Amino acid sequence: MFDLLFGAGRSQHAAGAEEAQRAGRNVEHLEAELARVEERLEKISIVTQALWTLVKQNTSLTDEQLSTAVCEIETQKQQSAQVPLKCPQCGRAMLARDRRCLYCDYREPEGDVLSQV
Ligand SMILES: [Zn+2]
Repeated sequence: MFDLLFGAGRSQHAAGAEEAQRAGRNVEHLEAELARVEERLEKISIVTQALWTLVKQNTSLTDEQLSTAVCEIETQKQQSAQVPLKCPQCGRAMLARDRRCLYCDYREPEGDVLSQV
């Protein structure tokens, strides 16, 4: 009887250790993903600053006009994110803002320069 209980306790301990290991790997994966996202965000920020510098140097556009354009694009994105699209690969619904199907991992082709950094 004691051996049976002791054996069950050991097996629970092993299951707990496996779960902890799995959780540790998930944390490592998420940390690596976060580092990639932060690196991409930094690149996008640099490209955006370079583009705005060039635009200001070569046109008469102002910061206020840039702010207005940013607001317009944000509004358009918010509106399009609420419209469900159909995944061309599996046919299930996907949100435009995700640009990726949650079911089959289909990714919409990237179209602009900022999405390629
Ligand atoms: Zn899909």
